[in-house]
Amino acid sequence: MLFNNPPLTPSLQQKGDNRMAYVGRFAPSPTGPLHFGSLLTAVASYCDAKAQQGQWFVRIEDTDIPRIYPGSEQHILECLEAFQLYPDAEIIFQKDRLDLYEAVIDQLHVAGQVYACACTRKMLGSNHIYAGTCRNLSLAFEQQAIRVKVEDQSICFQDRLQGQHCSNLKEDLGDFVLKRRDGIINYQLAVVVDDYLQGITHVVRGADLLDNTERQIWLAQLLGYPTLSYMHLPLAMNAQGQKLSKQNLAQALDPKQAPELLQQALLALHQPAVALDRPEIMLQQAVAQWNTDLIPHSIELEGHFL
Ligand code: GLU
Repeated sequence: MLFNNPPLTPSLQQKGDNRMAYVGRFAPSPTGPLHFGSLLTAVASYCDAKAQQGQWFVRIEDTDIPRIYPGSEQHILECLEAFQLYPDAEIIFQKDRLDLYEAVIDQLHVAGQVYACACTRKMLGSNHIYAGTCRNLSLAFEQQAIRVKVEDQSICFQDRLQGQHCSNLKEDLGDFVLKRRDGIINYQLAVVVDDYLQGITHVVRGADLLDNTERQIWLAQLLGYPTLSYMHLPLAMNAQGQKLSKQNLAQALDPKQAPELLQQALLALHQPAVALDRPEIMLQQAVAQWNTDLIPHSIELEGHFL
């Protein structure tokens, strides 16, 4: 742990050892309209938090400005309203918090944990794992990508659905980017900082993010933040065997169909049936019946979805 007293402390009233027992969140990126796959994450994260008398927050992860899809943020908010998935705190938007992420990069800089990297995508070629070429070049930080150093060390965590998951930081991941050359703050940094500042204790999200978790645990460790509990949900796939995503044109959810879609989402999560009603009532029943043992412990759900 580098910082005995992390300068950025949680904005919530719960601090240090008095953190709440369960604070969960749904953290969509507005890179496309909300689809059935994201609904599964929203519903599962909500029910899991509420079933444990926890709080549930919503955070819009909109640091990657070039990838923002026009109108998608509004669609996400409209859907949450229609599904009556009401967060326990004001929704936060990462684009309003860029100074915080910069301050954390400065902290890591002072501690010698980050460095500027001038390697272009072309130079890196198909190499997924960065070889550390710029690690000891002491390049100036301006107009360069910023990478965090990793060590030759394994990080393992026990996922509530996927079981034990481990990566060797150096061999499997390499020094990774926190800020891009174009100044955009990377998801890995923003997610770790905000999970900490919002006092998040439990992360429930899609299994497509499983392989990011060790990076996030490492970063949290460097910053002296606690390690969170993780549950990575099996992914909804389309008829072509691809995960539902904006890239493969997953259907935008129709807010008018909220009760039917909620029923289907609970079914897809293998939860006991819930009768059609106002979403608020359906969610109450879903929370009362919520049982994570019933969710398939796999990376993909069987069957296909739109
Ligand atoms: N913003 C990320 C996404 O939409 C999810 C982040 C997370 O849950 O950690 O894929």
